Amino acid sequence: MAIRTVRTDEDPVLRKISRPVAKIDDKIKTLVEDMIDTMYEYDGIGLAAPQVGILKRIFVIDLYDDTGVKVFINPEIIEVDGTQRETEGCLSIPNKLGVVIRPAYVKVQAMNLDGDIMEYEATELLARAISHENDHLNGILFTDKVVEYINVDEMVEE
Ligand code: ZN
Repeated sequence: MAIRTVRTDEDPVLRKISRPVAKIDDKIKTLVEDMIDTMYEYDGIGLAAPQVGILKRIFVIDLYDDTGVKVFINPEIIEVDGTQRETEGCLSIPNKLGVVIRPAYVKVQAMNLDGDIMEYEATELLARAISHENDHLNGILFTDKVVEYINVDEMVEE
C-alpha cells in the first residue's frame, strides 16, 4: 500500500494516450491498490492511472455508497445514451469546478483485478465518473469539455 503523487495541471503525462494492460501481474495489482489508496487519500471518487503517471488503461471508482470500489482495466464504453449536465472537478486540476455535459447512461465492459470481464450499466454519478475517468485514458481533461466554470470561492462560502 502506498500513496502515489497525483500529477496536476500542465503535466504532459495527462495528455498522453494510455496503453492497454497485457497481463494482470503483481505489478498491475500493486498499481491498482496504490491507486485506490491514493484516491481515498485525496477524497476522490475516481482516479485514472495516468493521474499517477502510469500510461495504462486502468481507472478506479468509489462513490462511497454500499457497492464498494470498482476497478476498470482496459475499459470499453460500448453504449451511451442521453445527456446529463452537472458540475464536476478533478484531482489533477485542483481548485477548478465546471459544468460538463456527459452521457446520462453508459454501458462499459472492463476487466476486474481477477481478470474477469465485467459489464456495468451506469446512470447519474457513476455514468459521469466512468465518462470522466475514461477520458483520462485518452488524454482528455474535463476542462476540455467545460461549458461553464463555477467560482470555487463562492462555493466554499455557501
Ligand atoms: Zn479527473
